[in-house]
Amino acid sequence: MTRLGAVAVPSEVNVVHGNTGCGRGVKVAHQQATLLPVNLDVGGLPVTVVGGGGAALRRVAALREARADVTVVAAHVVPAIEDLADRGQLHWVRRDFSADDLSSASLVMAATGRSGQDAAVADQARARRVLCLRADGDAPAQPPRTVPVRAGEPRRRGEGRVVLVGGGPGDPGLITVRGREVLAAADVVVVDRLAPVGVLADLADDVEVVDVSKVPRGRFTPQEQINDLLVEHARRGSTVVRLKGGDPFVFGRGMEEAQACAAAGVPVEVVPGVTSAVSVPALAGIPVTHRGLSQGFSVVSGHVPPGHPGSTIDWGALARSGTTLVVLMGVHTLPLVVAALLAEGRDPGTPLACVVDGASATQQVVVSTLAEVASSGVPPLVRPPAIVVIGPVVGAAPAGL
Ligand code: SAH
Repeated sequence: MTRLGAVAVPSEVNVVHGNTGCGRGVKVAHQQATLLPVNLDVGGLPVTVVGGGGAALRRVAALREARADVTVVAAHVVPAIEDLADRGQLHWVRRDFSADDLSSASLVMAATGRSGQDAAVADQARARRVLCLRADGDAPAQPPRTVPVRAGEPRRRGEGRVVLVGGGPGDPGLITVRGREVLAAADVVVVDRLAPVGVLADLADDVEVVDVSKVPRGRFTPQEQINDLLVEHARRGSTVVRLKGGDPFVFGRGMEEAQACAAAGVPVEVVPGVTSAVSVPALAGIPVTHRGLSQGFSVVSGHVPPGHPGSTIDWGALARSGTTLVVLMGVHTLPLVVAALLAEGRDPGTPLACVVDGASATQQVVVSTLAEVASSGVPPLVRPPAIVVIGPVVGAAPAGL
């Protein structure tokens, strides 16, 4: 169960005037209210998050971990929230908040990033007797899982620095101990949509969260702007954690960010991560190597497909290599990749697995063959983010793994 914070419950003692439910006439003496610390089970319940910025993203992350049915109300949202909405993992009501949004919610989280607005949402929720958590409030610390990402003592501002952290494939349990340690020291966390955003929920309230997600064929923050952002924050004396999915140096543009920091004289540390290229297949029960089946594996990007003038991959060599092929960023180009492998002589009966949304509650494994993809295209239900694994290892798992 995920701890979502402290709730100010309107108690009979504190309610000065009746229950008209409409602002006027309801005067609740909650200034000195004692907060009730609770662990709420919101699994399957409708929870509305008001706001679409970094503060909202943190609440969304906590609520998804807690399996709530999340609705975000905001005219504008950061790309990571838009991406979750596009993937059907939350509902986005694309306009400003109105009191009517409270009618269908079991719980409301006011996370607009502005204290006054959060207070206004909380007041309207209170008037309607709906529980409301304010992101700007003093929520008590979440009980640590292992290494807390909330500092035990006040963070000390010093010389600015940037730490590139590989966050693993998405499950907050699969970030490294060092990654969690540096998050506890962060003043600013610059995050990607494929990073384990669940850990953001545990950060101290005053840590600034900046979303710079690149949504495939959608919104993105140009790399130069991300580099500048890291340098600017560090120059102001902040400890900046650049939290990425998987490993920073596997198709993560981590070295470009390290180079930009070094060029600006900003100290950089790199914390490696568990790459999705190996861990997502593993979570789907697929070993990238297996004695008797595969003596190696190649990890390639499918972003630039075979035959494209910008492609530098020798697909013929891969087809004949006898090793497992792991393709990242390869959903849209999968038919072209499969056609190239078949044209270069790979067996049409070779099994292929697509692991969608690895390391999350919505993870799906779709198994096929090269021949099937060649005749029918990308299997239904397969959409980014997905890892494609090609080779006999796909069938290696015992039933039930
Ligand atoms: N640095 C990352 C990879 C970034 S490229 C790493 O080491 O894992 C982004 C691609 O990684 C996606 O298009 C997808 O192919 C893959 N990917 C990352 N996380 C994933 C996940 N949780 N489930 C499935 N695919 C994932």
